[in-house]
Amino acid sequence: MSLNAVPSADRIHIGIFGKRNAGKSSIINAVTGQSLAIVSDIKGTTTDPVQKAMELLPLGPVVIIDTPGLDDEGELGTLRIRKAYQVLNKTDIAVLVIDRSAGMTAEDKRILEKIQEKKIPYVIAFNKSDLNTNGQECKLSESADPSRCISVSTLTGENIRELKELIAKQVPSAGTEKHIAADLIHPGDFVVLVIPIDSSAPRGRLILPQQQTIRDILEAGGAAIAVRDTELQDTLARLGMKPALVITDSQAFKKVSAIVPQDIPLTSFSILFARYKGNLETVVHGARTLDLLQDGDKILISEGCTHHRQCEDIGTVKLPGWIRKHTGKELLFEFTSGTEFPDDLGQYRLIIHCGGCTLNEREMKYRLQCACDQTIPITNYGTAIAHMNGILNRSIAPLNKRSS
Ligand code: SF4
Repeated sequence: MSLNAVPSADRIHIGIFGKRNAGKSSIINAVTGQSLAIVSDIKGTTTDPVQKAMELLPLGPVVIIDTPGLDDEGELGTLRIRKAYQVLNKTDIAVLVIDRSAGMTAEDKRILEKIQEKKIPYVIAFNKSDLNTNGQECKLSESADPSRCISVSTLTGENIRELKELIAKQVPSAGTEKHIAADLIHPGDFVVLVIPIDSSAPRGRLILPQQQTIRDILEAGGAAIAVRDTELQDTLARLGMKPALVITDSQAFKKVSAIVPQDIPLTSFSILFARYKGNLETVVHGARTLDLLQDGDKILISEGCTHHRQCEDIGTVKLPGWIRKHTGKELLFEFTSGTEFPDDLGQYRLIIHCGGCTLNEREMKYRLQCACDQTIPITNYGTAIAHMNGILNRSIAPLNKRSS
């Protein structure tokens, strides 16, 4: 990702679905004007979902996700279809590609039902309009909305521009503007960000949530001062005035809370992001479940990506250790990462999720909803750590005092 690119999690995710040979890949290439997908006449060329961030006019920054064919066969094929369906959990707009000459099949109807059940805005592209269908009109499923359907040809370019416009029309309205920290401060305020630079910090850069928070503070007219935990005390002493807010990395919570005087509001990046993604209440409730754990309880620790460099051993090593120490109980831990998130959560007493900085809002909400539907408490790393350090109440207090 280039330095000034929109983070993937904040882009509109467009999932392209359809049977093998419906022409999904050619549609992607025609719409994007890029050779993103592998186009082949051989059925089932896309075996795993492939995604790419790009600018797509008239939409702006998007992520296009090409999915495996919905009619894939064999044991592996079934797994691929499952992966295609999993993509729905992060899809903001679904494009269902149907071979017009073959018509709408059972596989197409099945995914359309899922798309509608999940209330995902969609477009149906009847591809290969150049093929002669002897005047036979392609039959739509009764539930398909005709105003979302369009006939296209990637061979002749017919209606490709119109398809893009139809996709753009499905963009959910922006709703109220959300902030990370901007609504907690006033123009001219100082905000101190505590960012430990240890072995788990990526080399040569700040991680995405830290960059986004700094940007948000600057947009609000505030001044962001970033320090390591080792320089915090000295920085506070030399500032000459109280900062409006201190935001810390969760791992340094305990140390930072001991340094920052009680009359200075203190919170963490993960708590700010839980609020930003609309999950704060759920994760605070989940964190309090840590006090109710019993011997033999199973805990799922789930990470949103598989590149662990940013979170290193927090999930698999440090967190289980802290939880065992906090509870004094014999607990069982299971771990998942990346796109894998179990459908059946019934065996778990608690789920602890990472900050999910690479997941978009729809996917994070889906995971939370899965847990809520099955009445399994869910929290995140930072909120759990704040609770175990006895400073959860302190770290959510600044969020209740929004600036006016
Ligand atoms: S998605 Fe989760 S595990 Fe991956 S870098 Fe972000 S917070 Fe860490």
